[in-house]
Amino acid sequence: MTGAAPDPAPLVGVDLGGTLIRAAVATGPASHGEPVRLPTPAAAPPETVLDAVAAAVRKATHGVQPAGVAIGIPGPLDPAAGVVHAAPNMHGWQDVPVRQLLEERLGCPVAIQNDARLATFAEWVAGAGQGTRHMIFITVSTGVGGGLVIDGELVAGAAGTAGEVGHIMVDIDGPVCGQGHKGCLEGSASGTAIANRARALVAAGESSTLASLPAAQLDARAVADAAEAGDALAMRIYHDAARALGLALGGLVNLLSPEVVVVGGGLINAGDLLLSPMHQAVGEIAFAAPLARCRIVPAALGTDAGLVGAVAWAVRRFSAHEVTAAAG
Ligand SMILES: [Zn+2]
Repeated sequence: MTGAAPDPAPLVGVDLGGTLIRAAVATGPASHGEPVRLPTPAAAPPETVLDAVAAAVRKATHGVQPAGVAIGIPGPLDPAAGVVHAAPNMHGWQDVPVRQLLEERLGCPVAIQNDARLATFAEWVAGAGQGTRHMIFITVSTGVGGGLVIDGELVAGAAGTAGEVGHIMVDIDGPVCGQGHKGCLEGSASGTAIANRARALVAAGESSTLASLPAAQLDARAVADAAEAGDALAMRIYHDAARALGLALGGLVNLLSPEVVVVGGGLINAGDLLLSPMHQAVGEIAFAAPLARCRIVPAALGTDAGLVGAVAWAVRRFSAHEVTAAAG
């Protein structure tokens, strides 16, 4: 006679953001229970933030010891060493041994990963890249992030930082990005870049409905709204940003021959405004053969991708059953 198998120890995914910690227990290869949300004490030292992360994990498991925890963190980090090099939205994060500090607090194995890479993994396992072996993910919002899945593996590279699709060059004379690079994609196509350009052109006296807005309200959303309403300046700004995105993607298609390029982030909601010039620029740069084998599609998971990715990464790293994109 066999009784019911005991519940296995939970696997937990955590999304550590600048304002919110979200933690959830895995219920499948890429699904999770109701997430716990705690405010991030972003002004406090890293040890205090990690105390809050541990509290969120314990709350998510109702105090049950987890079998493993994966955490996504916004910033450059080394997953193999378990060290976060920097976290721009939090104070005092420089080469913090996050894996060790969390393993001490939680008493279980911990995996750390960049948040955009986990969103990439989520789109591959459970989103718009499901069922493929070669996928590029690019997400365009305040900044430009993303990641690569090649031959069915999330690409890490020698330093663990591979997949920074937002910081490839698109215009040698282009604007400076949030990381100080002149001419990279983020400097031309991010929401920050779009708002900066609109403010500069309005200040230079260009005619636009945007000129009537207070500077504080002149953000990427306002430029998108003006463009949709037919404002010529706003349309030009979006056209140029979309073209920069397409030039970068065309180069990536040539470099990697992906089956699918998944485009996410708030700006994709700009629809044809973004998509038409983007597709045209891809077509100018990409070779015909890899382009014919590549679909460019919107992301499927939205803002939940980071948490889904953390949960899926916990399952991938710490469960006996390997997750594949083909799994149900
Ligand atoms: Zn850059």
